[in-house]
Amino acid sequence: MASGSGTKNLDFRRKWDKDEYEKLAEKRLTEEREKKDGKPVQPVKRELLRHRDYKVDLESKLGKTIVITKTTPQSEMGGYYCNVCDCVVKDSINFLDHINGKKHQRNLGMSMRVERSTLDQVKKRFEVNKKKMEEKQKDYDFEERMKELREEEEKAKAYKKEKQREKKRRAEEDLTFEEDDEMAAVMGFSGFGSTKKTH
Ligand SMILES: [Zn+2]
Repeated sequence: MASGSGTKNLDFRRKWDKDEYEKLAEKRLTEEREKKDGKPVQPVKRELLRHRDYKVDLESKLGKTIVITKTTPQSEMGGYYCNVCDCVVKDSINFLDHINGKKHQRNLGMSMRVERSTLDQVKKRFEVNKKKMEEKQKDYDFEERMKELREEEEKAKAYKKEKQREKKRRAEEDLTFEEDDEMAAVMGFSGFGSTKKTH
């Protein structure tokens, strides 16, 4: 029949036996449930998320030119190479995203779960940080003090110099002034000064 073949041709989509697949799905689910009930499906026990204890190197290859050929190993290709996941990331932002990401942490054997800290841990952390701050402050104080001393010395020197210069200038001015006056007085033309002033 023409109409029958027409519908056949139009019906190009694949069809599934829904009932059968539903049965299969149910079977699978019950199997999984049984597995869980019987002997719990071994949950992958991963460590909790830890701090990174190294500095991320983003700049060591900055501004360098390297030749990359077909035989260049991936780790030496341009970009940021992750030796944990054996992959190359093209830029620093994506590299940071990668090493902070789930896949990378998983390869390191860590889950993304963060340890819930207890009160004691928080207190201890506070103490450690306080100590760190104090140590830093000490270093800072010393360096800051040295800097201040140096600056003060320089300022004092500059001030002295300036004063000396001023003194010299004033002395010179006075001298020339006195000289002028004296000369005028000696030479007898006291009016010289006044005429000079008017000009
Ligand atoms: Zn990685």
